[in-house]
Amino acid sequence: MKASPTDIDRTTGLKEITRKKRRSVYDNVTMQFNKAADLMKLDDNIRKILARTTNEIVVNFPVKMDDGRIEMFTGYRVQHNSALGPFKGGLRFHPAVDIDEVRALATWMTWKSAIVNIPFGGAKGGIQLDPSRYSVTELEHITRRFTFALGNNIGPEYDIPAPDVNTTPQIMAWILDTYLSTMPPHERQRCTHVVTGKPVESGGSLGRDKATGQGVVYTIEEWAKDRGFELKGATYTVQGFGNVGSWAARLLKQHASKLIAVEDVSGAIANPDGIDPDDLIAYAIRNNNLIKGYSLAERIDRKTLFQTEADIFIPAALENQITADTAPWLNVKLVAEGANGPTDPDGDRILQQKGIDVIPDILCNAGGVIVSYFEWLQNKRSEFWELEEVDCKLHKKIVSAYRRVSDAAKKYDTDWRTAAYIVALSDLERVYKERGIFP
Ligand code: NAD
Repeated sequence: MKASPTDIDRTTGLKEITRKKRRSVYDNVTMQFNKAADLMKLDDNIRKILARTTNEIVVNFPVKMDDGRIEMFTGYRVQHNSALGPFKGGLRFHPAVDIDEVRALATWMTWKSAIVNIPFGGAKGGIQLDPSRYSVTELEHITRRFTFALGNNIGPEYDIPAPDVNTTPQIMAWILDTYLSTMPPHERQRCTHVVTGKPVESGGSLGRDKATGQGVVYTIEEWAKDRGFELKGATYTVQGFGNVGSWAARLLKQHASKLIAVEDVSGAIANPDGIDPDDLIAYAIRNNNLIKGYSLAERIDRKTLFQTEADIFIPAALENQITADTAPWLNVKLVAEGANGPTDPDGDRILQQKGIDVIPDILCNAGGVIVSYFEWLQNKRSEFWELEEVDCKLHKKIVSAYRRVSDAAKKYDTDWRTAAYIVALSDLERVYKERGIFP
């Protein structure tokens, strides 16, 4: 059956999209999806369903600032698919947040949950703002008003937000409190799983703070085993030194690997003799969460960061960082994608030509959603798991997902990103075929 012109145009290639307009993040998703769907011969009808988001919610809402002014904000929640379970995905506070970006991030969440075999669908949300421009009180009011504006579009069994760029456990606690305050009193205690990534005292899980970085490191360990590569003494560079980047760096230190260059929004630094991640984190905490000015490393520019010869590069900041411009600079054996969408299709092609391995985002950074699932389960069952239990279960899940992707890459003789898509799309295809389409 032929797809209608409004569905993803499977014949649209890289050149076509570039010719029409500057490629968006969602265009990247479309190209990745089409490549995998073509290769695995995804059922045409199911392809039509998965090529679309289910719901796209845009809310404009007013917030009173500290000086009494009213400012208007735009918030988004895109729910891509819930065939495998409730919608699930983070909230981002960033000036670049728009419907296109949120749509892409929501879609990646659907694939991610499927790959790691957890009963969640995909969603994402955010507010277009620069959080550094607001006081803590203003951020609290913005968060609470956004939560209120979303209303029943989120819910513990329906759509469950979590942290992402510039959103913290504290912000999750405000969302929880606001959501519960709008519930009848006798329903509140059974709704704490409306959001994950909460502070532990407010119902969060041990190990959720480091979960994404931990998952990144577990996948790197599997890659190293497969390649017979020694992580002890291996060198690595990191872009983005927030939750994901700093935890990945810190956990790789336990392997005696050496961090030699880092970049965050304030610039890049390098030290060929090694930068101690714990010391850099301690410095950043004292310095507004920025690495700028760290005295035990040289300041370098962005190009030098990308050109730094190392074994592993961990992008852990934003989308579209490894592109036709920057991919040729990379001089590493492995790119482990802590961030969502750091590599665009041009970047992917160049990495392949250069023989650089890629652990794709939808596998590599899935530790976050896995432990979010554990937090959700603990809340539902009124349980509290020890850290060892969380880590052990996370390890099992992500290693099994790694093996599924590795097997698909061999079976279809394709790159790992496409293989990861095929794993996710195969599961979703099976579920749709079993259930059929109502009515
Ligand atoms: P964060 O806000 O904690 O950290 C983001 C980091 O990126 C900061 O160090 C910031 O300075 C840096 N950064 C921002 N813009 C930059 C730029 N232009 N150049 C270089 N560095 C820049 O966010 P996070 O939670 O660590 O998320 C990072 C990435 O990981 C995002 O792509 C996010 O979607 C993804 N991710 C996060 C989680 C999670 O659990 N937090 C889970 C899966 C994926």
